[in-house]
Amino acid sequence: MGKHLILVGGGHAHLTVLKNLKDFVDRGHRVTLVNPSEYHYYSGMGPGLISGLYSPDQVRFHVGRMATDRGAAFVRDQVVRIDADQRLLQLASGDSLSYDFASFNTGSSVPDSLDAGIPSCVIPVKPISGLLEARQRILAELSAKRMRLVVVGGGPAGIELCGNLWRLVRDVGGRAELTLVGGRRLLGGFPDRVRLLALASLAERGIRVLEGVKAQSIEASRVVLSDGDELVCDRVFLAVGVQPSRIFTDSNLEVGADGGLLVDDTLRSLSSPELFGGGDCICLQSRPLPKVGVFAVRQNPILYHNLMAALEEEAMRHFVPQKMYMLILNLGNGRGILQRGRLVFSGRWPFLLKDWIDRRFMARFQVSGERTE
Ligand SMILES: Cc1cc2nc3c(=O)[nH]c(=O)nc-3n(C[C@H](O)[C@H](O)[C@H](O)COP(=O)(O)OP(=O)(O)OC[C@H]3O[C@@H](n4cnc5c(N)ncnc54)[C@H](O)[C@@H]3O)c2cc1C
Repeated sequence: MGKHLILVGGGHAHLTVLKNLKDFVDRGHRVTLVNPSEYHYYSGMGPGLISGLYSPDQVRFHVGRMATDRGAAFVRDQVVRIDADQRLLQLASGDSLSYDFASFNTGSSVPDSLDAGIPSCVIPVKPISGLLEARQRILAELSAKRMRLVVVGGGPAGIELCGNLWRLVRDVGGRAELTLVGGRRLLGGFPDRVRLLALASLAERGIRVLEGVKAQSIEASRVVLSDGDELVCDRVFLAVGVQPSRIFTDSNLEVGADGGLLVDDTLRSLSSPELFGGGDCICLQSRPLPKVGVFAVRQNPILYHNLMAALEEEAMRHFVPQKMYMLILNLGNGRGILQRGRLVFSGRWPFLLKDWIDRRFMARFQVSGERTE
């Protein structure tokens, strides 16, 4: 007898399932996708979205249409709670959905950890769609004044964002003062060479980098630093790391230290075998992983196989995370920094390689007329 599979979140780890939904439907199963928007934005190209290097159509998947084109239902909503005993999902709209199996790819968000009360000048780096709105607002303001833009966070996302804000300002002939608040040390967990290359690239473009200080609080038009100094600003971007959505903790499911759904190597929940997950919202019991899209992408075929196996009562496959992965920073000036283990390269070709990888990834899954808006 056919069963009901619900995909919660149309993120990077669900793309193979979404592209091959007909395989599930043809076997008599019902599939529903729940996502707050028809679109999912590819985070790897997010910083390029703010600079205008990429247009929205180039960096998003029409996940709503991916579902409906292939015989699944699409519900534009958000899951807020899971009743695993009753196999019910509670939605933000007040509706509920019952499932036989559900798979979560709800990602992560920037924690509200700063003493901010989040004034209106603050833009968290996620959701990526927010960067598009930020671009429009900055474009309007740049035509009227010299802007003071601050990026808080000295990790890869903060650096990419800073470099791409620089490009946005340059390309429209605007005037802006750019400051990156890097925390204790810019790119702290990376080899020194990556850090020095990034610092040099930002410095040669006149971007101010503050190290050894953190942003303590954000008030309207100013960032208060841990050393007591203040930065006056028009817009503040928050790139201070991410944490999984709180649904699993709120639903009393077994979670990892970061609040992600605790799963075994088959990507199946330890507390509720009807639940699966992938991407930033899970915590792999055998080895908690960094929150990078590489792992979400690699989980695609495993989730596809194991969701089908759960429905059809067949054997599961195991996800074995790679030990090393390649990271390429898009510096915003047509150049990049590539790092894999102790290998580090910088220049134009690392950026071109990243651009090629990203565009190829988009082409693989943009299968539902995304460009016809
Ligand atoms: C600026 C930036 C650049 C990055 N660049 C790279 C890079 O170059 N390479 C790399 O490997 N990693 C990169 N990362 C990390 C990468 O973004 C994450 O690891 C990746 O987004 C994880 O994918 P995901 O599908 O799990 O989550 P997400 O991309 O967050 O997707 C989650 C989806 O679920 C939906 N959703 C959320 N909550 C609910 C809910 N309650 N109910 C239903 N649906 C919901 C969301 O709308 C979204 O569509 C970058 C991150 C940032 C912020």
